[in-house]
Amino acid sequence: MLLIGSHVGMNGKEMLLGSVKEAISYGANTFMVYTGAPQNTRRKDTSELNIPAARELMKEHGMANFIVHAPYIINLANTVKPETFELAVEFLEKEISRTAAMGAEVLVLHPGSHVGAGVEAGIAQIVHGLNEVLTADTPVKIALETMAGKGSEIGRSFEELRAIYDGCAHPDKLRVCMDTCHVNDAGYDIVHNYEDVMEQFDTIIGLDQIAAFHINDSKNELGAHKDRHENFGKGYLGTDALMQVIRDTRFEDIPKILETPYLKDADDSKKSYPPYKEEIAAIRELMG
Ligand code: FE
Ligand code: FE
Ligand code: ZN
Repeated sequence: MLLIGSHVGMNGKEMLLGSVKEAISYGANTFMVYTGAPQNTRRKDTSELNIPAARELMKEHGMANFIVHAPYIINLANTVKPETFELAVEFLEKEISRTAAMGAEVLVLHPGSHVGAGVEAGIAQIVHGLNEVLTADTPVKIALETMAGKGSEIGRSFEELRAIYDGCAHPDKLRVCMDTCHVNDAGYDIVHNYEDVMEQFDTIIGLDQIAAFHINDSKNELGAHKDRHENFGKGYLGTDALMQVIRDTRFEDIPKILETPYLKDADDSKKSYPPYKEEIAAIRELMG
């Protein structure tokens, strides 16, 4: 069955229950949340997340799973500022517990940015951080996201992700979240060479390691290293390339999450609204 959803909010009194309601309002059967603002590390206690009510509503709607995204300011690759690395390790530890408490199995993580120290030093630091956090009993999988290669981002090639697996003491706790906008911006041509790209991924990491997809079009051309998401079918990837991923029967059971940008209200440029209901409906229609 197609597992399609989007990034949804988690805030106010309802917290996770509100996230589930938002996902249902889009016609989604999966979703992704940040446990708080993606740009900071302030978080509520799990007792305030309204988890039982959210799980109950998920069950009623036959929603089997959702995924959690770690905030993008945590940078495990930082060797320049020790306090940034320490904060990332501490936060990741707590985020793993929160993810498990919420009943999600996958925590998406941006591997990090080496901020000038070089790819090798950055990867070594990520490995060091993961090895401090992961144990044989870690209850969730950390899905390293494929990155666009903006700035000094690590994870812009499958080889870089492989190197993290290779250094990790518990590689069985790792997975990958493949972001279609990011792989395009990193230089993988899924428009013309989809099968080749997937074959490369399979050889280097293994297709069975993909635990989630971020389905985004890109505002930029192949290899631009920009990371600017575009609405479904409206960018350089286009509908056919994105549908090829969504239709791929090898990934039938893998959640596919839209992180496409909000649309500006035609009457009020200060207002914007989520495109997810329409995009999910369009995808279902194309699936036939
Ligand atoms: Fe991400
Ligand atoms: Fe993404
Ligand atoms: Zn992105």
